[in-house]
Amino acid sequence: MGADVERELRREAAVLIETDLTGLPVLVVGPPGLTASVVRRHERAGAVVTVAASPGDVTAEVCARARLAVLVGPGSTWAPVREALAGRCPVVTEPVPDAPRGRVVLVGAGPGGLELLTLAGIRALAEADVVLTDRLAEVGDVARLAPGAEVVDVGKRPGHHAVPQDQIEGIMVGRALDGLTVVRLKGGDPYVFGRGGEEVAAAVEAGLPVTVVPGVSSAVGVPGSAGIPVTHRGVSHVFTVVSGHVPLEPEQARSLAGLGGTVVVLMGMHNLVPLTTALARAGLAADTPAAVVERGFTPDQRSIVGTLATLPDLAARAGATSPSVIVVGEVVRQSAVWARRVGAPSADGLAMDVVA
Ligand code: SAH
Repeated sequence: MGADVERELRREAAVLIETDLTGLPVLVVGPPGLTASVVRRHERAGAVVTVAASPGDVTAEVCARARLAVLVGPGSTWAPVREALAGRCPVVTEPVPDAPRGRVVLVGAGPGGLELLTLAGIRALAEADVVLTDRLAEVGDVARLAPGAEVVDVGKRPGHHAVPQDQIEGIMVGRALDGLTVVRLKGGDPYVFGRGGEEVAAAVEAGLPVTVVPGVSSAVGVPGSAGIPVTHRGVSHVFTVVSGHVPLEPEQARSLAGLGGTVVVLMGMHNLVPLTTALARAGLAADTPAAVVERGFTPDQRSIVGTLATLPDLAARAGATSPSVIVVGEVVRQSAVWARRVGAPSADGLAMDVVA
């Protein structure tokens, strides 16, 4: 992690992330609805937490055990607790806003790794009470970035079904209506094939404040990481991003071919043959450069480079699978420049297999 990011992260994401409280008896005082995230934050730092729901529960015995007390809630209720704890242990207070702060924040996590998450995204996670994570939102340890949040994985994992979209929206809206700050963390940019628009609509429909933190989209970032610029002066001044989830209609393929620019396909690996065939039938030359960039920004990143005619076979032989970005167009030739780069950083561990 870069030093700047680390510094900003520390500043934004509560000091407790880096503070080791292992074994420290901590007393958290406050109404149950308000203390959950404070309890989680301290427990993640290793503290042994006792919760007192009201000042009346702060008995002499409870006071004697505590080494740190955290008072949560409106300041008016703290006076008797402060009195009971006086001289026994340090007391910190966590005021809560009077108005419910229920809101939804969609955060684009970028195409992989913490460094491609924005500082606005880090800040949103630090403030979250609930985080709904996505399969492709791979920023590492979400609990560390969101120390006070309940982390709910709604993505598809091997052997598990993804939570259906309407249920994700139900959890998101329901928790925000409970007064919580809900972060929906999504791979890449929330609005690029991410159903971000639907989630914003659900939040707006429920009368909730909603913000969207953009993310680096794999559509641009992943080809770029393989040395393929989606536009290049004198080569391509237009790029189109299409979903390959379903094969291209002939009419669509003709429009894409007619633009004469770069075609970027997401979610297209299972349709690589029909996609390339449709583009060739629509008029793109069989020797148009084409590439698959697999698992961008992971140590297993690979590029498979060929032509419209050869790519499906090359990709099949290499065993390339999803997640991959498919790029078609003359810009793909730039990957050869990239492959020849001198003194290329190897510390990032990215593999670069250019198959002719
Ligand atoms: N909102 C995301 C895209 C979601 S669709 C974004 O803006 O990036 C999911 C598709 O994105 C995958 O099927 C794949 O085509 C692409 N993708 C996402 N992350 C990727 C990665 N790290 N490497 C290669 N392709 C990736």
